[in-house]
Amino acid sequence: MKAAALIVAAGRGTRVGGGPKQYRLLGGKPVLRRTVEAFLRHPEIDTVRCVIHPDDASEYAAAVDGLVLLDPVAGGRSRQDSVRMGLESLEDIAPDIVLIHDAARPFVSAAVIDACLKGLDAAEGAIAAMQVHDTLKRGDKQGAIAATIDRTNLWRAQTPQAFRFDAILRAHRSALGHELTDDAAVAERAGLRVVLTPGSHENVKITTIADLVDAESRVSGVQRICRTGIGFDVHRLGPGDRVIICGVEIPHDGALVGHSDADVGLHAITDAVLGAIAAGDIGTHFPPSDHRWRGADSSVFARHAAELVHARGGRIENIDVTIICERPKIGPHRPAMVAKLADIFGLQVECVSVKATTTEGLGFTGRGQGIAAQAATSISFALSS
Ligand code: MG
Repeated sequence: MKAAALIVAAGRGTRVGGGPKQYRLLGGKPVLRRTVEAFLRHPEIDTVRCVIHPDDASEYAAAVDGLVLLDPVAGGRSRQDSVRMGLESLEDIAPDIVLIHDAARPFVSAAVIDACLKGLDAAEGAIAAMQVHDTLKRGDKQGAIAATIDRTNLWRAQTPQAFRFDAILRAHRSALGHELTDDAAVAERAGLRVVLTPGSHENVKITTIADLVDAESRVSGVQRICRTGIGFDVHRLGPGDRVIICGVEIPHDGALVGHSDADVGLHAITDAVLGAIAAGDIGTHFPPSDHRWRGADSSVFARHAAELVHARGGRIENIDVTIICERPKIGPHRPAMVAKLADIFGLQVECVSVKATTTEGLGFTGRGQGIAAQAATSISFALSS
């Protein structure tokens, strides 16, 4: 009996950020490579093929470098299209069995694959699934409970989903034009008998940044804890023709007054970072009485705070800053600010947030006498135990 694994890796999966999730590194190894290896090392899987997005050819080649598997094929517009195209590409090989699996489930175990294969003894399809233990509620449009759903016999579908090859190929061809959420649904539509076999809690689908962080902890065996810091700063507006906020110079009919360059945004962020590691505040490290900091570029303060974090073994996970003023308009400068902060703190741009608000004309910011900023940051540390 010949068994092929079809790995569906054509999705864009941008929710994780930083490109399709299946190519993100997990413990230094691409997610997709871990997934492919899980099937290549299973003794009953004869061959593996991936369905990829045509734009990802070079990422794919790098991810599977050195592994022995079939050449990839290009997927279609939807997951269902991609699976059908993948199945059609296997017609020459004509396997008896095909296991269809999401690239973003790298922790599939041999036991889960075994269970699917065994399930095919008595059915045309067998899918990994988990019994639902939580109580299920259906909500109405206002977010109130409309009904409690009986969870008896309810299962969450995972992948792999294993099928007799000829049957699932026929089912997919006849489902063209019908949108279905998984391959089991395609099989059900064709009247095939599909059984539920034990999945596992570890067989998670990496969908969000949080999933990726959890997966990283599992791979490295290291748990991380997060600490939060907040910062607040105000600078008075005086005569001048520009302000510097978050490292970006903005033309204005006034200038922020301060001992350094008076970058209110960077000062709030620097205090947040120092706060998260309980290392005092910006004045502790750079006293205004010290003439060395006269007119200083505030990125010097920010970089120093980041170095203190690194020296303690911490990692800045994100920065969120709000600039509070009526004018100048922050929006047009936001991308430059995000890029600047990402550079200073060594972060991906998706981990940096710059926001702005007015105080509706109220208070000193409302009257244009000054600009305020507040910031928050999370800094993670590895737990050694
Ligand atoms: Mg300040």
